[in-house]
Amino acid sequence: MRNVIIIEDEKDIGELVQLHLEDMNCEVVHFLNGQEGFHYALEHPFDLMILDINLPDMNGMDICRALRAEKVNSPILMLTARSEEIDKILGLETGADDYMTKPFSIRELLARVKAILRRVDIDTRPDESDGADSIHFKQLEIDKRKRRVILDGERIELTPKEFDLLYLLASNPGVTYDRKDLLNKVWSYDFEGYEHTVNSHINRLRAKIEKDPANPEYVLTTWGVGYRFSDQGK
Ligand code: CA
Repeated sequence: MRNVIIIEDEKDIGELVQLHLEDMNCEVVHFLNGQEGFHYALEHPFDLMILDINLPDMNGMDICRALRAEKVNSPILMLTARSEEIDKILGLETGADDYMTKPFSIRELLARVKAILRRVDIDTRPDESDGADSIHFKQLEIDKRKRRVILDGERIELTPKEFDLLYLLASNPGVTYDRKDLLNKVWSYDFEGYEHTVNSHINRLRAKIEKDPANPEYVLTTWGVGYRFSDQGK
């Protein structure tokens, strides 16, 4: 059973999404305003939040940012009616993982939800790791199966996209990926023109794993091209 929180003031949309998710065997709670949904989310662990941006009492982006600040790293899929907001959703500011623009098809939404929940499943599977899926480099340990990152013995909380980005780079040390490659591989659909999204996520990732983000030892910049994971000084 997966727990999903919907915060959407358009009652019909929220209910429609809720019905479809319940058909997928999800336990769904639907809030019509931001405050209530936000406070509920702080107290109740969830596998996915579907979060509208334009709410009567609180902006969805503020909710997302506040949850991330409270170290709630569960996946958040944002709903927006305005294309100009996409920049901000994907960027440094919010820490959201995905978005859909209204009006959206319910099929498309469900496809996104399934993709997100598949990752959650992997994350919560009982420990059957034989270590084959984990990467060790210096003080960093990345466990793909549990989607867990340990640095100097301490668990680092990453959002799903930050994890995917790190895992992709770390699986191929020394290989440079340009921003477009990373968009295609990590976000997996067409985000043409949103290459700066990659920079934002790299900055957030570095802030979490690097001792000195300005002089990184793990996620390195290949000037004028993109990013690579270190293959030096293992
Ligand atoms: Ca709304």
